[in-house]
Order: sequence, then C-alpha cells, then structure tokens
Amino acid sequence: MRTQVAIIGAGPAGLFLSLLLERLGVESVILELHTRKHIEERVRAGLLEFNTVQLMHELGVGDRLRRQGLEHGGIELRFNRHGHRIDFRDLAAGKCVTIYAQHEVIKDLVRARLATNHPILFETTEVLVHALDSTAPYVTFQNGGVSERLDCDFIAGCDGFHGVTRAVIPAGALTVYEREYPFGWLGILAQAPPASKELVYVHHDRGFALLSMRSPEISRLYLQCAPGEDLAQWPDDRIWSELHQRFATDDGGQLTEGPITQRTVTGMRSFVVEPMQFGRLFLAGDAAHIVPPTGAKGLNLAVADVRVLAEALGAFYARGSSDLLGQYSATCVRRVWKVQRFSWWMTQLLHRFPDDNPFDHRRQLAELDYVTSSRAASQSLAENYVGLPV
Ligand SMILES: Cc1cc2nc3c(=O)[nH]c(=O)nc-3n(C[C@H](O)[C@H](O)[C@H](O)COP(=O)(O)OP(=O)(O)OC[C@H]3O[C@@H](n4cnc5c(N)ncnc54)[C@H](O)[C@@H]3O)c2cc1C
Repeated sequence: MRTQVAIIGAGPAGLFLSLLLERLGVESVILELHTRKHIEERVRAGLLEFNTVQLMHELGVGDRLRRQGLEHGGIELRFNRHGHRIDFRDLAAGKCVTIYAQHEVIKDLVRARLATNHPILFETTEVLVHALDSTAPYVTFQNGGVSERLDCDFIAGCDGFHGVTRAVIPAGALTVYEREYPFGWLGILAQAPPASKELVYVHHDRGFALLSMRSPEISRLYLQCAPGEDLAQWPDDRIWSELHQRFATDDGGQLTEGPITQRTVTGMRSFVVEPMQFGRLFLAGDAAHIVPPTGAKGLNLAVADVRVLAEALGAFYARGSSDLLGQYSATCVRRVWKVQRFSWWMTQLLHRFPDDNPFDHRRQLAELDYVTSSRAASQSLAENYVGLPV
C-alpha cells in the first residue's frame, strides 16, 4: 500500500487530521489498534473549546453537535460554601464552550472519514514505523493475520500517550518535561439530571470536586482521591455522601442522585516532549503531551496540533514548501506550554496537596477570592478556558 500521510491512531488527533488533509486534497491512511465499536464507546473528555466547535462546523461534521451539544456561557467556582460565576460571554468576547462527549465526536468523525472512501484500518496490531530520517518512511503492521507494509511521505503519530510512535524516537533526540500529581479523580456517570446548568468547580477542605454533565439527563461527577484509589472501597452511598459534603452551600443547593452507571479512577500528570518531530514523524495530541483534566484541555489541544500539522502538510503538497513543517514543533509547543500552564494553574488552585499547610490553604482561598472579584483575573481565566487562538 502507498499513501501520502500514514496516520497512526483514530483518536481525535488522527481523525481530525485526516479530514483536514482531505479538504486540502492530501491522501492519508489511518491505522487504529481497536475496533470501531471500541473507539466509539470509549468515555473520555466532554468539553469542546470554541475553536474546536467552529472546526467541526467547518468540516461539515457538526450536525449532531448543533442539535445535542450544550452551550455553556460560564462556569461556577465554589468555595467557602458559596458559588461565584465566571461569565465567559461577557469576559471572552461572546465566546462559550460546548458540552459534547468525546465518543460522540469520534462517531461523527469516523462516519465522515469513511464517507470519503479513504480507509481506517481497524484492529491493526504490531504497528512499527521505519526509515523516519529518510524521505521514504514506511509502516509495517498486522491486519487480519496478514503482514502489511504502508509506504508514505510522512507519518503522523496520533496514537496517544501509550502509543508506539513516540517510543521509537531515540532517547537522546527528545527532552521530556513531566510532573505527576499526588492525587487522582474518582469519576462517575450517573443517570441524574445535573444539579447545575453549568460546570461547578469546588474547592473544599475535603478535596476538590467537579460537577459536569453529558446531557440534560446524565451527570458526570468527580472527586479528588488518592492516585491509586481502590474503587472497591467506594460503594454508591459513600460516593454520594462525599459528593454532598463537598458541594454543600449555605443556600441549601442539592445535588441530584441517580443510578451510577460507570466509575473510574484517573491519575493526573503534566507531560510534554520536545521537539514534537523526528525526521518525517510528527507527533500530535496525547502522543506528545498530557495535561491534568482540570482545565478540560486534552482533546482541544490535540485538535490544535493537527490544525498546524495539516496546514504545514498542505503547504508541502501545494507549493513544495517545507518551511511550515520545519516550524511545526516550535509553533505547537508555544501554545502547548500556555495550555500546560493553565491546566496546572487550575489544578494547584483547586486541589488539596498532601503537604498543604494552613498557609497554602489561605493562599488558595485568597486567589479564588481575587479571581472571582477582579475583572482582569476572571478575564484571564475565561480567555484560557474558552480556548486560546490557534
Ligand atoms: C480516562 C480518560 C479521561 C479523560 N478525560 C478528559 C476530560 O475530562 N477532559 C479532557 O480535556 N481530556 C480528557 N482526557 C484526555 C483526552 O481524552 C485526550 O487528550 C484525547 O483523547 C487526546 O486525543 P488523541 O487523539 O491525541 O489521543 P487518543 O484519544 O488517546 O487516541 C489515540 C488513538 O490511537 C490508538 N492507538 C494507540 N496505540 C496504537 C497503536 N500501536 N497502533 C494503532 N493505533 C494505536 C488508540 O486506540 C486511540 O484510538 C481523558 C483521557 C482519558 C484516558
């Protein structure tokens, strides 16, 4: 097989890239480890930045998003048992964010990709990338028990944090920047109407909590917990009791309870590799960086990377220019670090750290007070939250 761009991974990065390239007349083949059903049912992120929503409409994959997405013009920061709204529309030039689950985005993108008659090869295993420092790289893999080879001009490593592409780059060629957090999130999906129309971020003595949602009927709730928390220790009653304590307000607002349909523990880390390129291999999305989920940025950052990559590949094929490809990593990394900073800032502002002392606690509360009472500070939060320009 031969194509122009071999894309490893059919997550948001790989699928958006394929549609962006299609629009520029650039051919690609996507290799995906899992089945279509698996990737279309994998519950992950759920908040789309303004730019990501715009892009879905531009690519013609926004019909269901328009019907089912929930536009949010703000968030609540809750501390000392009081809520404070950050109004995005007022503070960020009328922009908002949209709640629409990642697996719904994946369904829309897969359907659009398959309609182009260019393939997604599902259940490909033993993917290996070769000759990255030549102008004729290639990929070998197993598909349906058959050994295959895909020749190409470029390889896009969109295979997530645990993928294979980053791992083949020689250790000396990459610098890794990493920070692990001493806590995780216990997340549940509950069949219960969300108690708030917008997301609620809680700073509490017992630890952080977040109210989010997947639809007007389904709540997504998170509790700060230990990194390797044992879910067996968390029967439904204990989860609801802890959530009620952390979300309690002086005006008596109540969470809505309902059957818990899924529960997970997610670790938290910040991670960046530089450069995001090695020869003809370009890393994008989680393959190159991870953010803690507090700022809801992981998916959106993956989309921003592939916009830059598609434009650079488009320039190569249209004009034979490698300039933008040469600048790919530097262009992305500049934005990646701003998003890392914001995600870290939200995380350190709202969580309890094991070595917290009363000074840290009072400092966090002072910062929350500042962020919610100063227009300049709330504006900074709002413009980062709705998404920095690409
Ligand atoms: C449990 C969980 C919860 C999350 N919650 C949030 C959240 O609330 N908010 C938020 O902003 N972000 C969240 N994230 C992060 C967000 O989902 C990711 O940032 C986003 O999926 C990144 O997209 P991606 O395309 O780069 O990588 P991925 O979505 O990881 O896609 C990579 C694709 O590559 C495939 N693949 C892997 N290895 C291979 C291989 N060897 N060969 C072929 N294919 C391969 C994978 O199957 C996958 O389909 C969460 C992530 C996880 C894991």
